[in-house]
Amino acid sequence: MGKKSRTIMIILLAFLLLIVIGVVWFLRWTNPDFASSLEGVKRNQVTRKLIICVDGVPWRTINQLWEKGHFKAFHRPSKVIVAFPTMTNVTSTVIWNASRVAGYESAYFDKEKNLMVSGVGKYLHKRVIEPGDFHQHFDYLEPIPYESTTYVLPRRICKSDLKRFIEAYSISEKEEFCTFIKSTDGMMHILGKEGAEEILLVIDDMLDKIYHSRKDDMEIMLFSDHGFNFAKSRRVKLKSLLKSSGFDVRNDLRNEKSVVLPSFGLVGFAAIYTAEDNKRKIAQQVPALEGVDFSAYRKDDALHIFGQEGEAKILKKTVNHTELYKYEIITGDPLSYKDILESLTRLGKADKEGYIPDSDWFEATKDHPYVDALNRLYQAFSGQVESEADILISLKDGYFHGNALFSVIATILGTHGSLLDTNSVGFFMSTAKEAPSHIRDNQLIDYLK
Ligand SMILES: [Zn+2]
Repeated sequence: MGKKSRTIMIILLAFLLLIVIGVVWFLRWTNPDFASSLEGVKRNQVTRKLIICVDGVPWRTINQLWEKGHFKAFHRPSKVIVAFPTMTNVTSTVIWNASRVAGYESAYFDKEKNLMVSGVGKYLHKRVIEPGDFHQHFDYLEPIPYESTTYVLPRRICKSDLKRFIEAYSISEKEEFCTFIKSTDGMMHILGKEGAEEILLVIDDMLDKIYHSRKDDMEIMLFSDHGFNFAKSRRVKLKSLLKSSGFDVRNDLRNEKSVVLPSFGLVGFAAIYTAEDNKRKIAQQVPALEGVDFSAYRKDDALHIFGQEGEAKILKKTVNHTELYKYEIITGDPLSYKDILESLTRLGKADKEGYIPDSDWFEATKDHPYVDALNRLYQAFSGQVESEADILISLKDGYFHGNALFSVIATILGTHGSLLDTNSVGFFMSTAKEAPSHIRDNQLIDYLK
């Protein structure tokens, strides 16, 4: 063997060894066998309040399980109506009254710097939790590398996540222990409703063990940060539509034709960034595309909503600390609120200009498919994230927008992100008290205290 081929051989062997070490390390840290760790929960006799957020579990699913007799120690689950877009970054910021995040997802368009911030880069760094970040509430949080692998090996990652949580809880000396189980999201995106039920039953068993290890002398609160629609989903062709309409879809805004369309997770909403003059034209066009439910943009104080059948307008005013919304049907009724608007008006809830108090809208729409839409849409265009979209698009269940490569790798059995109730209604339940049937996300903190 020559000197050169010997060197190549050594490099190859070293490379192979690195891969083996990597695989062994990965398997060790993602050991899904948590049954043995469960015995350890008896060690903790200090924690009196255990708060667990399970990523994206919809009220509908937990309520069905509860009605079948699971989660026995808990009171009836309440609906938690969360912010739009129904994405963890956005909804958790409101739930924890935390400082607002830069973008809707880890990949986002930085408006100020006029560039795309990559989402993949985030997974290669250690998690940095700035003061005010909602992550600071958690005593256990899944390490960053598994946040992405959960979409490749959902069962293994989710069970190892639970194992790490159990181990952290077992040795905790805190009276209040708070955790965020993020990996339930992967179970649901990849394995659908069956995946959700499978992992929830595992969580039910786990919580039962914890609760009884303390002879019921503790409170456990379980909640989720958004809902989920269990529909096998296809990608919407937003980029093609924008290109065929003559727009230049790119990673920065360079001229009057430029449009930035971040595409990362496979989710039920899309954010568009473009020049002021393009907003109306684009918002008007996209509802014609298969899978799009509606689009929205803000001009001055008015929100313009476009559905397949036409346009409506949302206006807001505040009188004596009371917030009021006006829903004005221009050429269509994209939120299907016509009947509600008429009945609230008949009941004398509208003022001379047609504004109706926010609380009346909430009561009238809290179980509607476009649940609490006026308030949630208005918030979405009032500085909800630092780099707020110029146009937001909400998709129908069964469709997603996102990274083309990810959508080839994975079959998606459901997603979230849109304004529809399936995506927007999470839950809250406690072993100590029954909360009201409907809670707005910004009120949830009162029940977590
Ligand atoms: Zn998700």
